[in-house]
Amino acid sequence: MRFTRRELGRLAAMGAASRMASRAVAQEPDRPFRYCMVGLGRISMQHFMPGTRQSKHSRVTALVSGHRDKADKMAAEYGIPAKNIYNYENYDAIAQNRDIDAVYIALPNGMHAEYTIRAAKAGKHVLCEKPMANTAAEAQGMVDACRQANRKLMIAYRCQFEPANLQAIQLIRDGKLGTIQSIESANGFNIRAGEWRITKTLGGGGPLMDMGIYSLNACRYLTGEEPTGELKAYSSVTDRDGRFKEVEENLSWTMKFPSGAMATCTTTYGAGMPGTFTVYGSKGTMHMDAAFGYQGQHLTAKPQGEPAVDLAPAERDPAHFPRIADHLAECVMENKELRASGEEGLRDMKLIAAIYQSCGRG
Ligand code: NAD
Repeated sequence: MRFTRRELGRLAAMGAASRMASRAVAQEPDRPFRYCMVGLGRISMQHFMPGTRQSKHSRVTALVSGHRDKADKMAAEYGIPAKNIYNYENYDAIAQNRDIDAVYIALPNGMHAEYTIRAAKAGKHVLCEKPMANTAAEAQGMVDACRQANRKLMIAYRCQFEPANLQAIQLIRDGKLGTIQSIESANGFNIRAGEWRITKTLGGGGPLMDMGIYSLNACRYLTGEEPTGELKAYSSVTDRDGRFKEVEENLSWTMKFPSGAMATCTTTYGAGMPGTFTVYGSKGTMHMDAAFGYQGQHLTAKPQGEPAVDLAPAERDPAHFPRIADHLAECVMENKELRASGEEGLRDMKLIAAIYQSCGRG
């Protein structure tokens, strides 16, 4: 992967060159980097924990769960001693546990801030799931707490570490598409009733928080620019079936970047909307299917006057989670700057606040 010098500085903030960072590791650590899972739900049990088994540096050595039976089962599977199983009440006692270097926060969004701040106070580094928090104020509190405790805070923006997304960035940086004029992106799914994601307290908002954030973050890493304040958004509810009493069902927004590039994004909790982006440049176009999924990314590009690019989807890329787990491990071990830091998450949270404000939700 090639990036210009200036771009590398940029990516350090934007989070898009993890594979290069992996190569930079001079030597294997003499012990693994040890994670404590906070929340045993879908993402932690089905993706992160299995992912650590394929990682270079990362192991799961402790668990926090409100369900002891589930924790015991996972502990048996991963060889975790009973003394390293916590619940939400005795969580702060992780401070005394030397088997834990970092926590992985995989709780509903509305709980991220509290459990990140408590982890920082316990002296642990934090890998927190996206969206970073419910609000920009909470996100700022997380950044401040980790800074005060001198602990690292990373947000699990796994697409910034995914090869096809990195290739898309490189095509743009190499000028293959010319000047970027506009980007379109969509991401959503049809949500079931009763999910915490459609409550204001735990979800923080609707599909923008959970799915639209992928498009928002992609527009930033694809352009390599921060949106200007000129932003317009609309939200709606079409299904009056009781699911959307607290949060929006559909949301579309348009952003403008300093270069003049425009981005139009749509997200929904009312329909299957596979994650995609299309980039229109003065010299060609680029499109990615399954852009934000765990696998199946399919990148096609038609640069003017050059051979078409067709990067077929990998059969399966189970490496998203080992990449993010190892990235925090490497940054801690080598005291390096994170590529998907708390500050990066905070930028998205401020934009999300502006999008909701434009929709009329304060
Ligand atoms: P989930 O509902 O499967 O798991 C949530 C966990 O939190 C469960 O263990 C649950 O028991 C626990 N929990 C504790 N208090 C709770 C409460 N009051 N209500 C509900 N659950 C409570 O959710 P998930 O899909 O694993 O999502 C967890 C986080 O990970 C979310 O922030 C989500 O946005 C994020 N996520 C990220 C990705 C990604 O690809 N990076 C994918 C899915 C989810």
